[in-house]
Formats: sequence, C-alpha cells, structure tokens
Amino acid sequence: MNKEADGNELMAICKRRGFIWPSFELYGGVAGMFDYGPLGCTMKNNILEVWRDIYKGREGFVEIDSETVNPAEVFKASGHVDEFSDYMTYCTQCQLPFRADHLVKNFCENPDTMSPAELEGAFSEFGIKCPECGGDLGKVEEFNLMFKTTIGPGSARVGYLRPETAQGIFVNFQNLYRYNREKLPLGVIQTGRGYRNEISPRQGMIRMREFNMMEVELFVDPHDKGWSRFPEVEDEELVLVPNTGTDTVVKTVGQAVEEGIIANRVLAYFVCTTKQLLLRLGIDADRLRFRQHLKDEMAHYAADCWDAEVLLSYGWTEITGIADRGCWDLSRHSQFSGSDLSHFDRFDEPKEMTFMKVQANHRMLGPAFKGKAKDIAAALEAKTPEDVRDGKIVLNISGEDIVLTSEYFEVKEVTEKVTGERVVPHVIEPSHGLDRIFYSLLEHSYFYDEKREYSVLRLRPEVAPIKVGVFPLMEKDGLDVLAKEIYDKVHSTMTEAYYDGSGTIGKRYARMDEIGTPWCITVDYESLEGPDKGTVTIRERDTGDQKRIPADKAAETVRNLVGGLGFSDL
Ligand code: AMP
Repeated sequence: MNKEADGNELMAICKRRGFIWPSFELYGGVAGMFDYGPLGCTMKNNILEVWRDIYKGREGFVEIDSETVNPAEVFKASGHVDEFSDYMTYCTQCQLPFRADHLVKNFCENPDTMSPAELEGAFSEFGIKCPECGGDLGKVEEFNLMFKTTIGPGSARVGYLRPETAQGIFVNFQNLYRYNREKLPLGVIQTGRGYRNEISPRQGMIRMREFNMMEVELFVDPHDKGWSRFPEVEDEELVLVPNTGTDTVVKTVGQAVEEGIIANRVLAYFVCTTKQLLLRLGIDADRLRFRQHLKDEMAHYAADCWDAEVLLSYGWTEITGIADRGCWDLSRHSQFSGSDLSHFDRFDEPKEMTFMKVQANHRMLGPAFKGKAKDIAAALEAKTPEDVRDGKIVLNISGEDIVLTSEYFEVKEVTEKVTGERVVPHVIEPSHGLDRIFYSLLEHSYFYDEKREYSVLRLRPEVAPIKVGVFPLMEKDGLDVLAKEIYDKVHSTMTEAYYDGSGTIGKRYARMDEIGTPWCITVDYESLEGPDKGTVTIRERDTGDQKRIPADKAAETVRNLVGGLGFSDL
C-alpha cells in the first residue's frame, strides 16, 4: 500500500536533500522562517516560470517589481493599519502566544468570524487550555500582523514591510495606466516577498513570517465584467464550496456564473485560470477545491472571494485567494493621495448629460493657496459630489491634508455633451502563495514505492528541479568521458542536469527518484562498442522503463521530453 506524505517525513527529505532549510538553525532557528536550498530554489523558479508563462505569455499581462518597505500612508489607505490583524491570546502560565481562532477551530464552526468576547466565551465553554502546558488562557487581543520600521534614521517616517505585493501595483496605477495607453483591461503581475508577523507559526511552510507571493491585479471597467476569453473556459468543471451552506458542488464555469454562484465572468475566468495553473504545476485534481469566503470572513477590501484549497496532511489549506476587490484599493488611494486614479470610459458616441459637478472657485483659491492653487483646483474638479462631507472636501496633495470649505468650490448641476465618463476601475486579484504551492506540490507528488522501498517525488518535468541525471555505469574506461560530454551538452540554466559517477547505479537512480528527477541517462559499455555503439540508455522515473537513444541526441531528447513529448514516443 502506498503511504501518503506526512508533513514531518517530507520536511526531513526536504532538509536532507537541499529543498528547504529552517532559517538560522545555527542560532536555534526562528519559527515561520525558511531558506530555499539549491533544489528548492530551482523548483521555486520553475513554478514562477509556469505562472509567468500563463499570465505574461498567454494573457499578455505586464510585470513590475516594486519596493518591499512602504511608507505608512500606503497601508493607512489600503486599510492594513486599521484592519490587518488577528486575535491572539497568551497562556497565563507559560506566556506562549497563540492565535485565538486556531485554538477554538475544533469546537466552533467559523472561528474566523468570531469576536474577542466570543473567543473568550468558547475557551471557558469548551474548557480550552494552553496546548503547550495546559495553563489558563488570557484575554483575547488584536495584533496587527505588519512589521513596523522607520525609513531613514530616527523615527521621522514610519514604514511597514509590505504584507502583500498588491499595494505596489495600486500605487503605480497612474504609471501603469499610462503605459497601457489609458486602456482597460490592464493586467499586472508581481512576484516578491510579503511579510506578516504571524502570531504562532507552527505549520511549516504553510504559515511563514516572510513568504513569496505571485500576485496578479487585473483592472477592469466596472461596467464590463464580461471578459472576452470567457467562452474558452465556459465548459471547464470546477469543484466549488459556495458560502450558501450547500455541500461541495461540481459546476462548469458557465453554470457557476449563470446560477450566481461566482459573482461575474472575470472572477470565474480567473478561478478557472488558477485551476489550470495549479494542475499544470502538478496539484492533484482530486485534492483541489474552491471555497467561497463567508460574508463576514471576507477581507476588508473584498466584494467576493474564493480560496483555492488543497488537501494536505494539515487538512484543507488555502494556497491561492481569488478576490474581486471592487474599487476599494484605487478609491482609497485616490482619497488618501488626492490623485485621480480613474479611467476614462469613452462612449461610442458623445452624449448630452445632466449631472452634478464639483467646480473649483478659482477666485478664492488663487489668493489663499498661491503656487499650489492650480494643483488644488485640478484635484477638486476630479472629485465627485459624493466626496463632499459636512460641506467640506479633504484633499491630500503631496502627503499634505488640505481641508477645503464650501467657499472654495461649488456643486452645480450642469448639462454637457460628454464623450465619456470617469470610472474607478475594479480589481480582480488572483493572489498565489508561492511557498504554499511549492510545499503542496511536494506533498501531492510524494509517493512511497513499496517495490523500490524508497520514496519518489513524482514532480511534473516542468517543475522538477533537475530534469535529468547523467551517469557513467562505471567511472572508468572512457564511460565517464562520454557521460561528462553529454552532461555538458544537456545542462543549462533552463534544463538542469546532475552528473553522478559514484556508488551503485541503483543507488544513483534512487537518489534522483527521491528528488523527483524525471529521467536518467546512463552511459554503459554498449555505448562504446558493439551494435549499440553511440547510444545511451534513458530511464523514466515513474515506470522505471528504459530505452536507447543516440548519445548525440541526448540534449535534444531531454528538451523535447520537458516540452511534453511522451516517453513512449521516443
Ligand atoms: P491573502 O492575501 O491572505 O489571501 O494571501 C494570499 C496567499 O498568500 C494565500 O493564499 C497563501 O497562499 C499565501 N500566504 C498568506 N499568508 C501566508 C503565510 N503566513 N505563509 C505562507 N504563505 C502565506
């Protein structure tokens, strides 16, 4: 019988073979921090390339790389300073910190949605104690997950390490919009580190304090959430857990939208794209589902949100969140920065329209604000009547808040011929956790081979860190010379090969199988003389089947196999 990976066994292989190492082990380690070793680093890059291939290659999105330390203003606007927190409690005896919602998860249905009082109530109702020492748990408090720092010496400017890469895209919207020649849709991707000061990370790579994200922000016209490529995926099936309390359902993408399960076509298209990405990487289709967030579980910015969840030894685990963030981010950054972050939605034909408009009172602004008056007038006229609160409009010009009372502007009904209208784009965001995907691929590809009596990682060739092992049967008699020649031809940064001349051939195959290498090439005595002279064997990891191929075609053969050629077609 096959054994499924348990987290500990897999982590032991990962550590031993150089996929990942707990960080700072030399100094006792820090919970929730990991370093990628040589194999892990290559595999992580391979995952990134598949993600890029889908979003840049297929969808034509653009990629940026923004700063990881951001000034506080960014996260005040995004809502993270006020909202990005978890509830925690300390053990009154051993003083260890815990996520309060995690402690009640075996007793309460939706711990994510519980208030501090409800969590404390659950501790006493169900007799929940400290999991480490059995002591009583203390008060439940809010803990903001962002790492705080200062930018520059002293405490002049507060900054935070970004908890997501997304904000770097939103704050660059004007640049990106201009780059896209002021057209929507506009798709932007970014990969990089996100930082969350997790309260008590105890689940290996699932909960890290510094982690890698692959984020996609798609800006769409709010009046057009249709998505022209939708028909291409309409018939694909999705396993869905809607938030209406029904059980898991299997629906086509088309049905999910028609029946109102997924809010709109763009969101549904990117739920499906996420499925395609995860399956292509090697996630097991039978251990993948999409769960809709409950209304009170949704992040502060989300209008609808689906998690791609995979079944791991830890239970069902979110590895990607696909959210309709509505106009939240751009509206907030526009409000806090005083900049216009809207899109001009051009009508097919100009239309005569009557509407209320904010008009700057230039005669009052000039004397009062002198050199700044022009910028203030432009920012004022970009506002809508809804921005007037208590008769005032608040602008933020270059970081400075300016409150304008009613003598500086007028809200007037105007009838004008207009060629279009300004709208704040909506954002659809598939946000992938690279480390969680990485770890899930290892668990889903792990296979204990009873016959071989060792474990094999059945990684997809595209993802496997090493594509081919190259061995001389013996490291002598010229076998090693030909093997090294082949290794030199096959090995490149895109197709990593591994030369190994020591130990029995069986042990060398086992070493490659254990790290998921899909093929091994062996130079044997027949390669040098006899009817098979000039050929080498190539062995397939999962079946152990072997074939002979011309030695001088080895590099081409491996490239074709990685590109999708079947082993049986060789
Ligand atoms: P979120 O913005 O919370 O939806 O996170 C987006 C993705 O980042 C999630 O689907 C996870 O895959 C990943 N992620 C979030 N928090 C962590 C963490 N502490 N450690 C590792 N991955 C994380």
